[in-house]
Amino acid sequence: MYRVIRRGMLRTLGIRVWHDIRNHVRYGFMATRFLIDASTMCQLRCPVCPQSKGQLKTLGIGFLKFVDFKAFVDDYPNIKHIELSNWGEMFLNPELIDIIAYAHEKDVAIEALNGVNFNTVTDEMIECLVKYKFRAIRVSIDGASQEVYSIYRRGGNFDTVIRNVRKLNDFKRQYGTAFPRLVWQFILFGHNQHELPIAREMARELNMEFCIRRNSMPGYSPVTEPGQTMSTTDSKTKTDGQASQVVYGEEGLSCFQLWESPQINWDGRLLGCCMNVRTDYGNVFTAGLRQCLSSEKYVRTKRVVLGELDATEDLPCFYCPCYRTLRSSKTNPLRKRYTAQRSLLADLTRRIDYYLKHASFE
Ligand code: SF4
Ligand code: SF4
Repeated sequence: MYRVIRRGMLRTLGIRVWHDIRNHVRYGFMATRFLIDASTMCQLRCPVCPQSKGQLKTLGIGFLKFVDFKAFVDDYPNIKHIELSNWGEMFLNPELIDIIAYAHEKDVAIEALNGVNFNTVTDEMIECLVKYKFRAIRVSIDGASQEVYSIYRRGGNFDTVIRNVRKLNDFKRQYGTAFPRLVWQFILFGHNQHELPIAREMARELNMEFCIRRNSMPGYSPVTEPGQTMSTTDSKTKTDGQASQVVYGEEGLSCFQLWESPQINWDGRLLGCCMNVRTDYGNVFTAGLRQCLSSEKYVRTKRVVLGELDATEDLPCFYCPCYRTLRSSKTNPLRKRYTAQRSLLADLTRRIDYYLKHASFE
C-alpha cells in the first residue's frame, strides 16, 4: 500500500516537474502557481482594509470573467495551481461556479488561501466547492460571537459564516472528500483577544486548522495582553515582541511572488506581488504572459528587490514596507535564492522541495 502511494506521489511529482520544464522552455517562466484575483469587490467594511478605505482605485473594482479565466487556462495548460483570493470577496464573483468547474475539468488546483469572509454563499456554491475539489479556503473569523466578530468585520454575520462552514462540512461528508481544506484565520486585536481560546476550540470542532494573524495596523485596537499572544502560524507575519505589530520578516516577504506566484489583477493586469496596488506590467490576457513577465519594468523590479538597483517612483517597491525590510537586511534572502540558483537544475531542485512540502497528491 505504502509503495503504491509512493509511486503515485513520484508520478505526480514527475508530471509537475515536466510541466515546469515545458513552461520554462515555451514561455520563459517557472512559477509554481499564479494568483488571479477573482474579485476586488467586498460587501463588508473592515476598518483598516484598503478595499473598504477605497485605496484600490488603480486596480479598479471588478470580477474575473469566466471567458478570461478559460482562455488563460487553455493558453497555459502547464499552469496547474491558481490562487483566486486577494483584495475583495471571491464569492461575490457571479461566474465563480463556472470558473471552479472549468478548473476542475482541466485539472487545475485552485484555492483561496489569502482569505474570504464567507458571508455570502449559496448552497449551490458550497456544494460546488466540494464537488469540484476546491483545494483550500482560509476563512477570516476574528471572534467567537457576533458581538465581537462584527466590531472588525462590519456588516458581517458570525452565525451565517459558521452555518456556511457546517454546510460545507456536511457536503464533504456526503461526497467523502477532505477538500476543501479549511483554515480559520483569527486576526488578533485588543477587542477580540479574550475570545481566542473559544475560537480555537470552535475551529477544532469544525475540523478547521487555526491560524492567528497579527493586525497590520498596530494603531487599531492593539492587543493589551501580550502574554496570550502565542506564536503565529502564519508565515507572512511574525512577532517582534510587541503583541500586535506586524513585522515583514524575511520569510514573509511578498517579493518572492515575482518569481514563484505572480499576482494578476481581475482584468488581467500583471501586478507581480500582492503588495502592489499602484502600477502594472502589462495585461497578460491580451499581451500574454511571456511579454509581461519579460518586460523591462518587471525585470527591473526583480533587480531592485535583488539589491542590484535602487527603487524608483514608478515601481511599487518604492512605497513598500517589504522593500524597507530588504534594505535593512544584512543578507538579502532573495539574492541568496535567485542569483545563486539561476540554473535550470538548481531551480528544479528548489521546486521539487516546494512540491514535497506543499502540494496535495491525489
Ligand atoms: S472582508 Fe476582507 S476584503 Fe472585505 S472589507 Fe474585510 S478585510 Fe477587506
Ligand atoms: S518590495 Fe516590491 S516586489 Fe517586494 S513586496 Fe514590495 S512591492 Fe512587491
